[in-house]
Amino acid sequence: MGKKLTTRKEDYSKWYNELVVSANLAENSAVRGCMVIKPYGYAIWEKMQAELDRMFKETGHENAYFPLFVPKSLFEAEEKNAEGFAKECAVVTHYRLKTDPENPSKLIVDPEAKLEEELIVRPTSEAIIWNTYKGWIQSYRDLPILINQWANVVRWEMRTRLFLRTAEFLWQEGHTAHASKTEAIAEAEQMNNIYAQFVENFMGIPVIKGTKSENERFAGAVETYCIEALMQDGKALQAGTSHFLGQNFAKAFDVKFASKEGNLEHVWATSWGVSTRLVGALIMTHSDDQGLVLPPNLAPIQVVIVPIYKGEEQLAQISEVANDLVNKLRNVGVSVKYDDRDTQKPGWKFAQYELQGVPVRIAIGPKDLEKGSVELARRDTLSKEIVPQGEIVEKVKGLMTEIQENLYNRALKYRDEHITEVNSFEEFKEVLNTKGGFISAHWDGTSETELKIKEKTKATIRLIPIEGKKEAGNCVYSGNASPQRVLFAKAY
Ligand code: AMP
Repeated sequence: MGKKLTTRKEDYSKWYNELVVSANLAENSAVRGCMVIKPYGYAIWEKMQAELDRMFKETGHENAYFPLFVPKSLFEAEEKNAEGFAKECAVVTHYRLKTDPENPSKLIVDPEAKLEEELIVRPTSEAIIWNTYKGWIQSYRDLPILINQWANVVRWEMRTRLFLRTAEFLWQEGHTAHASKTEAIAEAEQMNNIYAQFVENFMGIPVIKGTKSENERFAGAVETYCIEALMQDGKALQAGTSHFLGQNFAKAFDVKFASKEGNLEHVWATSWGVSTRLVGALIMTHSDDQGLVLPPNLAPIQVVIVPIYKGEEQLAQISEVANDLVNKLRNVGVSVKYDDRDTQKPGWKFAQYELQGVPVRIAIGPKDLEKGSVELARRDTLSKEIVPQGEIVEKVKGLMTEIQENLYNRALKYRDEHITEVNSFEEFKEVLNTKGGFISAHWDGTSETELKIKEKTKATIRLIPIEGKKEAGNCVYSGNASPQRVLFAKAY
């Protein structure tokens, strides 16, 4: 165990970086902007994957895999998409190295091994996938195609942060093809709703659903649906996006189908994704100055049992009780670790599991053996209580739900306290600089106004809310008519 974390108040972003590294979630690598996800961090990602995968399959989607590389001619086919991603593409130009004739211990790129056509390392896979779908779709009978891919993508981001924004990241990307516009829009909305359910129920993070303004829309999309969450420093985080792509990719790749009526029509498309950024959202929503706080649904270890003993004999007695508890808890589906290592002291173990956010800690010492009890500690509230051994299983089962709900409610309270309605640009700036969070304001619907506000305040339109009341008003910046309030915030 190293030194204490910087507190959130002292320096939120330093706190975040220290926490990610010291809780063994991830670390920076030798490659600029690319991280190493360590086993504990990866275990959390695996839990997210398992649940999302289940939800995708339940709604009729199947997994497949497409190449990492996209030939440049395919990449540039859908112009808006290509233009949007061009600035952050890694490009493969050669396929071989050779020994440097001037320095035999070094390798150089072999100029004779230049690719005829450059390959783009996928920043997103619409191009390669729609080029493939062309061969799969002839008639309405071939539709819909409901495919998801688990993959890595590369976007050459200039300012990176562990999990939140990395140059290479892991994600899933759904790519669906439909016979009608209505069906494709329903799919894009459905997936945005699935993301919202997952993030709220599973990760305990409240989100707001909405659509993006033109400026913030995915390059090549007709409409981008999104879910946005609020972090503890008052900044917003885009937690997931789902795009209605219209017929843009079908037109770029000439994908047509014969309709029931016998007409040849372009196919309608969606794509949707969430990434390892969600691990960052998890950390920034629930964690505290002691370290990570994990909702039970995502905790790789839900309960840890630590023995407090002197000598082999005492350990053997405690282990008997502990192993019995381990079995009983596993039988009811709780993941438990019994940490009886003699290489670390109990105090060290307590601090380590606190730092790693294990929801429940059980300590068993000689006094507990006498009394038939254990000491139980909750990570979310940092409270402790003595519980009779016979009541532990029921107690822990209840706590799994209670902690999950408590974390969600805590985050919801913070989020709701940080949505502020403003009616003038002065008020807008004042709230943004003092309180932060989401600012609910009227906007005239133009990119020009949005960009001016961004230039002056660094706040962007996070979303145009889908749910809730919709009253007309006047734009906080231009005074022009506005059909409804939108949410602005500074964002990650
Ligand atoms: P997009 O394809 O741009 O709609 O992004 C799909 C998902 O990946 C969204 O949930 C984004 O928040 C997330 N994302 C975008 N860029 C990055 C990045 N550099 N690192 C991690 N996640 C990202």
